[in-house]
Amino acid sequence: MPELPEVETIKEHLRKLVVGSLITQVAVLDPGLVEQPSTEEFERELGGERITGAWRRAKHLIVELDSGNSLVFQLKIGGQLLLVPPVEELKTALMLVLYLDGDRRLCLRDETRFSRVRLLNTEELEERLSALGPEPLEEEFRENGAKYLRETLSSRRAQIKPLLLDQKVVSGIGNIYVDEILYDARLHPRRKANTISNEEWKELHAAILKNLAAGVEHRGTTVRLYKDVLNRTGEHQNYLRVFEKHGKSCPDCEGKVVREKVGGRPTHFCPSCQRENWREGEQELTLV
Ligand SMILES: [Zn+2]
Repeated sequence: MPELPEVETIKEHLRKLVVGSLITQVAVLDPGLVEQPSTEEFERELGGERITGAWRRAKHLIVELDSGNSLVFQLKIGGQLLLVPPVEELKTALMLVLYLDGDRRLCLRDETRFSRVRLLNTEELEERLSALGPEPLEEEFRENGAKYLRETLSSRRAQIKPLLLDQKVVSGIGNIYVDEILYDARLHPRRKANTISNEEWKELHAAILKNLAAGVEHRGTTVRLYKDVLNRTGEHQNYLRVFEKHGKSCPDCEGKVVREKVGGRPTHFCPSCQRENWREGEQELTLV
């Protein structure tokens, strides 16, 4: 599923390649795609709109239109937004085609068909985004994120992995980057938030910044379905240490990476580097 770095990459492409274009015609090819308004209204209202901007909030991709409305994409598990030249013919898994001036098409393709779009006015958009937590790569979180995480989470007895996936806590982190982040921070995914020390909150904060920034720099992670707007894979999959590396050696110790369910999600970690019970770990250290 596209997470912050993938949606950020797509957004940058739209800014360079699509902003300024006129939507001449709209074809919704999957009746489940449009959440709001009705499919008929969506097609009618969107046709003739000019694209004036593109931005991202959490995993939402937001395309601004000259009417003041916004087209909001949620590229769920397998969503690909592809800018297709006139000669190329996409036939499978198409959910939406936006015909643009200059004989181009912006196509939403999704084999899993979980992607959703909404056409919202300003108030509806604000409402939709209002519950989301801070953007991890923005200045406020870069500077004060360690303190924010500690103050928000340190009284919680929940496991740290599901907390980081909660979009109300922090925006944009999904199942791939969270495993890499926890590995860097040396935190077991089942570690209870109320046992995390000051120093560990700082390391967790640094790991969030480092992993998400690297994901953006490498134009996203393609494990299976993610493609950028020009139909290219990302490169960050070449830098993963634990995600789907179960059975392989940990890059930092003699142990092996394992895969277990945590909070219902497949989770990859090194049981030697990421200890669940910090007290036991500390005791061992003092005994040595
Ligand atoms: Zn290890």
